[in-house]
Amino acid sequence: MRSTDYARPRELREAVELRAAHPEWMLLAGGTDLMVNANHRPVPAGIIDLWRMPGAGTITATDAQVKIGAGATWFEVETHPAILATWAPLAAAAREIGALQIQARGTIGGNVGNSSPVGDSLPVLLALDAELELASVRGTRYVPYREFCTGYRKTALAADEIIATVTIPAPTKATRTTWRKVGTRRAQSISKVMGAAAIELDGGVVKSARVALGAVADRPIRIAAIESAVVGLSPEKAAEAARTALRTAIKPIDDVRSSAAYRHEVAENLVARFFSGILS
Ligand SMILES: Cc1cc2nc3c(=O)[nH]c(=O)nc-3n(C[C@H](O)[C@H](O)[C@H](O)COP(=O)(O)OP(=O)(O)OC[C@H]3O[C@@H](n4cnc5c(N)ncnc54)[C@H](O)[C@@H]3O)c2cc1C
Repeated sequence: MRSTDYARPRELREAVELRAAHPEWMLLAGGTDLMVNANHRPVPAGIIDLWRMPGAGTITATDAQVKIGAGATWFEVETHPAILATWAPLAAAAREIGALQIQARGTIGGNVGNSSPVGDSLPVLLALDAELELASVRGTRYVPYREFCTGYRKTALAADEIIATVTIPAPTKATRTTWRKVGTRRAQSISKVMGAAAIELDGGVVKSARVALGAVADRPIRIAAIESAVVGLSPEKAAEAARTALRTAIKPIDDVRSSAAYRHEVAENLVARFFSGILS
């Protein structure tokens, strides 16, 4: 058996130096994605183990934003009082990732880094307009999450970079946020369709909206056709406009979990409910 080098950095600086020196080594956080197929993949030349790296999971909330260290687990996210109060869709998504064991080990950085089209937090990051802090020995750059996914499991992360934090601005007082996942059951269930929305109301009509869905394309996506169709409409009219706009906006896939037709119908119901349920 081939041996694998192993390093456990004690701080971000050390982690990015290791990453620069060994860009081909595997970055390991909770391992809940990586370990699933570990026996079916080539043994990595080395492992940079980020699990519980000091400071990597810190969550700092202010009135303006929450900054979540990439190493924060889903349990830490879903039980954080400020996230529960102000960024409820993220807490709701966290509660539906796997079940308790996975939530205790899986991290937000791992969900973003894995970049699966069925990653449950990803539509939330799109709808709430999150920004990623990417660190390397070259410095730090900030990338809006909407620019991060570039294809099926492809991202803008460079080979020498590490996701350091995820920052989400606080929604304005006039903005309602929502999240919904449809799977076969409430736990240990991969999404058939899931999504999130941030809807700003003004005088009883929609002023602006960000609507994002997962599991309906090769990556999590914002639905621009809905976002423009609903402006100026009451929530009830916006619900119908969203349903109509979605009809030609997505082409979900057929796979073992669901047919394309089923996914389409569920996605239409989901986006309609984002608007019709906004005042309840
Ligand atoms: C039984 C089971 C159920 C699951 N259910 C769900 C579910 O319902 N919804 C869902 O969305 N997911 C689910 N998952 C997938 C997984 O738990 C999540 O995606 C989790 O957030 C991954 O985090 P991790 O820390 O374990 O990532 P890891 O497995 O450690 O890493 C995943 C990927 O991210 C990269 N990575 C990790 N941290 C960083 C970083 N800081 N910078 C750059 N890259 C990084 C790794 O290199 C790797 O490519 C499930 C997994 C299992 C085993």
